[in-house]
Amino acid sequence: MAPDALCTPFTHHPADDSDSWQRMIADSITTAEGLAAHLPVDPDRIRTVIQRYPMRITPYYLALIRQQQDPIWRQAVPDPAEIRDTDLAADGLGEEPQSPVPNLTHRYPDRVLFAVSSQCAVYCRHCMRKRKVGRPAGITAATRREGVAYIRHHTEVRDVILSGGDPLMLADEVIAALLAELRAIAHVETIRIHSRIPCTLPQRITPTLVGILRRFHPLFLNTHFNHPAELTPAAAQACAALADGGIPLGCQTVLLKGVNDHPAVMQSLLRGLLKMRVKPYYLHHPDPIRGTAHFRLPVRKGLELMRSLRGAVSGMAIPQYMIDLPGGGGKVPLLPDYVQGADQNRLCVANYRGEIYEYPG
Ligand SMILES: *Cc1c(COP(=O)(O)O)cnc(C)c1O
Ligand code: SF4
Repeated sequence: MAPDALCTPFTHHPADDSDSWQRMIADSITTAEGLAAHLPVDPDRIRTVIQRYPMRITPYYLALIRQQQDPIWRQAVPDPAEIRDTDLAADGLGEEPQSPVPNLTHRYPDRVLFAVSSQCAVYCRHCMRKRKVGRPAGITAATRREGVAYIRHHTEVRDVILSGGDPLMLADEVIAALLAELRAIAHVETIRIHSRIPCTLPQRITPTLVGILRRFHPLFLNTHFNHPAELTPAAAQACAALADGGIPLGCQTVLLKGVNDHPAVMQSLLRGLLKMRVKPYYLHHPDPIRGTAHFRLPVRKGLELMRSLRGAVSGMAIPQYMIDLPGGGGKVPLLPDYVQGADQNRLCVANYRGEIYEYPG
């Protein structure tokens, strides 16, 4: 299919219009008919999927689609495979049993994962929180208040991760008030925001938002890019604005079949992120979550991909490869085996080229 034949181009709103991101949300595609007006899809098949798992695609992200089933399409366009997958558990990582109050998971002693918004700019088809996102009733001002109260009463919590959904879908005033409440808690040392918005709606990163965020340092932002086609000038501008605001940027990429499970694609993504001052933090193996089985691939493939990175890209660009244990066991980093053998006096080690060296001691 010819580029540009696929999507109806959309008009960019002027960047100095601080409401333009809200308008882009309002103009997003959320219905089967709406999608069929832009892409060659069968609305009946889409409709049955989005009854279970909602769809939203911003005009910006839609315009990145070049071909049917390309990596952007696969991440954003509902696929009937989602509802055929009934074997995997909806909450495979056991977040709910480890939530002492609604929408706050306290798994590790010193940190909490605090879901503060159920909305996202684009509902990723591979989302590990598919059971929750896009259902506004679940996360409310009341549950946010309860979460803050929990953190206030638990002095062991040093690190608060704001997640969702996407925290940056909240209005500026709500974000400012929430951060002010968290910063007023003496034992909270660091705050992290987990947001895909620099990738799916970079226009949301306004000077006003950066001005709010920078009042609450030390504050980190971990974003979520999965493919080099997402590294657009607009995304780079959003990341530059955040980095200039003194906000250290990390990226949590998900390894996805048919999206980024190829060394050249992954290397290009990681190099591009580093150029945008985004430090690749984690490469997540896809979690066993209902509705996402069509993205899964063997851990062996992930390890091969990790091996392909060492020596090929700057060490600064190499994330840790993580699996998250089912049932709430937590995250575990996996590494390819570089140690081939050992005895009392030496290690036998393979380097990035596969050449074997002896290492004393
Ligand atoms: C991933 C996760 C964290 C954060 O883990 P880090 O390794 O510190 O980034 C915290 N709580 C829960 C429930 C998580 O899933
Ligand atoms: S932005 Fe994050 S929370 Fe929202 S759908 Fe995508 S992966 Fe899920």
